[in-house]
Amino acid sequence: MKTESRDGVTYVVEQNKCIIPDFTVKDLLSAIPQRCFKRSALHSSLYIVWDVLLLTGIYKATTYVDPLLSPEHIDYPHPYLYPLARFALWALYSFGAGLVATGLWVVAHECGHQAFSESKFINNAVGWVLHSALGVPYHSWRISHAKHHASTGHMTQDQVFVPRTRSEMGLPPIDHENEDLLGASVSDKVMHELYDAIGDSPIGALYGAFSYLTFGWPMYLIRNASGQKRYPRGTSHYNPNAIIYAPHQFGQIVISDIGILLWIATLVLWTMNRGFAEVFRVYLVPYLWHVSSHSAHLPHSLTIIAF
Ligand SMILES: [Zn+2]
Repeated sequence: MKTESRDGVTYVVEQNKCIIPDFTVKDLLSAIPQRCFKRSALHSSLYIVWDVLLLTGIYKATTYVDPLLSPEHIDYPHPYLYPLARFALWALYSFGAGLVATGLWVVAHECGHQAFSESKFINNAVGWVLHSALGVPYHSWRISHAKHHASTGHMTQDQVFVPRTRSEMGLPPIDHENEDLLGASVSDKVMHELYDAIGDSPIGALYGAFSYLTFGWPMYLIRNASGQKRYPRGTSHYNPNAIIYAPHQFGQIVISDIGILLWIATLVLWTMNRGFAEVFRVYLVPYLWHVSSHSAHLPHSLTIIAF
């Protein structure tokens, strides 16, 4: 992009050229070696084994170190440092476990694309178990996710991160006489104001990032937040009659919901038996790290890279 500054306004003299490549999806697919299309259940399963081993290792290491952070084993200058050290240890645990759990989420995502093995039954069974364990309604999400891939990055047809149009934002139609459609030539004064506004209010920015990262993914599943605008208000991944699904998919959505009920039941039973503090520490905090990794794929144009 070439810009030029005149009378306090930065003008775009030349935009980057976008050359649309002259090949088809078929050309692309035929360039990939045939062996890459072979799906091995054994090979794919090793990723699960590896992730489970990692999770077990991280948990065991944490519970091994935890009791050592006490006055009997270590001498800290202030008593407050003991709980602080334990907090830091578990914070580290939650980050590590959250990363590995995202790896498991991705394996289930591959199951949803039928990429795990040659058997559809194995793919769906493994995907259902893994996704249910992470609170995702497997088939429900698999179906809407296939639609997402069909129009990834499309300004109006995508399933997630669908941007609002001018009229939805309450803006008047574009005035071609006085406005630059590319939005490129903005006075330097306005540009500075924009930079200021972006950098403003760290608390506001932190709150925005926190709520987006924490609630973005569940709210998309529960009520289509930031999702496809064609769907009526309150469209939910958990509703077998939702407009996202065809009538013949009803049973699969119910199976997905059963997975979620089992997930909730497991968390409730775990809390009743071992107390909320353990569930919070061992599962919920890593879970938040994992959830934030979904919502973090912010820009609409980047969803194609995300998944
Ligand atoms: Zn995908």
